[in-house]
Amino acid sequence: MIPHVPMRPLWRCRNCGAEWPCQPARLSLLVEYRGNRTALLLYLGALMSEAAEQLAQLNPDHVPDLHHRFLGWARARG
Ligand SMILES: [Zn+2]
Repeated sequence: MIPHVPMRPLWRCRNCGAEWPCQPARLSLLVEYRGNRTALLLYLGALMSEAAEQLAQLNPDHVPDLHHRFLGWARARG
């Protein structure tokens, strides 16, 4: 079983190849951090900074909207 974890520096899922965090990764993070949304957002914020840095090095002309991708879904629920 390959876990749904990010491949650096591309930030695609090692299992399904989707942009990380993919749906299964989001679900397992929500389970893992249930009852501790603040810790989840801090964790995702740290990963977002790392991803922003690495993706900007790969393609400085096109830095994707990482805020929505990393934090939007985690804030929206509960
Ligand atoms: Zn995945």
